[in-house]
Amino acid sequence: MKLPTLILSLTTPFLWAEPEVDVIEIDATETDVTEVDDIDLEPQFEELEDDGSRVSVLGYHEFHASKPLTQMRIQTKKFRTQMREIKASGIPVIDMEKFVQWRKGEAELPPKSFLITIDDGWKSVYTEAYPVLKELELPFTVFLYKNYVGSSRGGRAMSFAMINEMLESGLCTIGSHSVSHPFPGTVKKNLKAGPEIYDAFLQKELGESKTFLEDNFAKPVTTYAYPGGFHTPEMFPLADELGYDNLFTVKPGKVSRASPRHILPRYIVLGNSNGAFKSAMVFRSGASLAGGITAPVALPYPVNPQAGHIISSRLPVISAELSQVDGLDLDSVVMRVGGFGKVPCKVNPETKEVSWTANRPLRQPICEVSLQWKLKGKESYEPIMSWSFGIDRVSNYQSQ
Ligand SMILES: [Zn+2]
Repeated sequence: MKLPTLILSLTTPFLWAEPEVDVIEIDATETDVTEVDDIDLEPQFEELEDDGSRVSVLGYHEFHASKPLTQMRIQTKKFRTQMREIKASGIPVIDMEKFVQWRKGEAELPPKSFLITIDDGWKSVYTEAYPVLKELELPFTVFLYKNYVGSSRGGRAMSFAMINEMLESGLCTIGSHSVSHPFPGTVKKNLKAGPEIYDAFLQKELGESKTFLEDNFAKPVTTYAYPGGFHTPEMFPLADELGYDNLFTVKPGKVSRASPRHILPRYIVLGNSNGAFKSAMVFRSGASLAGGITAPVALPYPVNPQAGHIISSRLPVISAELSQVDGLDLDSVVMRVGGFGKVPCKVNPETKEVSWTANRPLRQPICEVSLQWKLKGKESYEPIMSWSFGIDRVSNYQSQ
């Protein structure tokens, strides 16, 4: 078996925090990002075929009615607004059981749905979020880590009684979030200590947390959220052995039935920015668009990134395919990109594809592109073609 030794969490700039502390930002090279899709998984983990349905998984942490917003803490009012927006969208919120069944091929889903998840087990899940979810009848999953359940530390953790009450409501499902919520540094330290120590460490974090939750709440636990989204390939076979069938990261994106089960994407909604929530609301068909981005229909020729879409790379290849332009003068093509001006795009004489790869990260949430060209023998330019797409800047971070 050949698995990559480095995966995205190791090479992406990330943010994470322990529940009691503020977020620490750690910079890494921005360009050295491996996309989730590139990861090669061994055949026994092969997923089912894509049925076209997409699930947007939202991840929250802590809630508060009045404290200032932070990345990991969202104000209750804002959370309520977001949940109302979801409700108003008409796109269903499914529960984890349905999600798991769909992933196994045992249930069908509509083309679009949401799954709501909340990490750590803060008391404010019960006091702030749960009333909203109950009122709107939205199912949700809490990813709990053993050492925090019922913890008296700071009096800010949910008690067993609170969790039980939410479970009894039928709206809540539980999943595992490890035993100790280890920082990536701790995981790496154990990894460096050799396979035996690392295996014992993982057995405990993934295994003991599962047993603990199953014993205490009498519910099967088959889902896991990596603390800080941090994972290494050694976790995958162990997760299979322990009976986890869906494991969530913090890399934004929609889940399909074919998404690799060990690295499912999730939109971590930060309390102090709207980017991830907006991205989570946009499904590929373009039913809902972030303000300011052109609608994904009006262009005469195919372009990439597509108009109105939100991408996660800040170094995209921007291209347009002009093979349908009769008599295109290849030398006349001019591409302009917002923030860059005129860029040295290349034109492929065979395919008539015009492309340019961003040579420094796009900094704005919306990128505007325009293309102009002449027809052979003509003096003036043809009508300008322009479009814009969004960049999910939150995707450049790993948050807890
Ligand atoms: Zn966490």
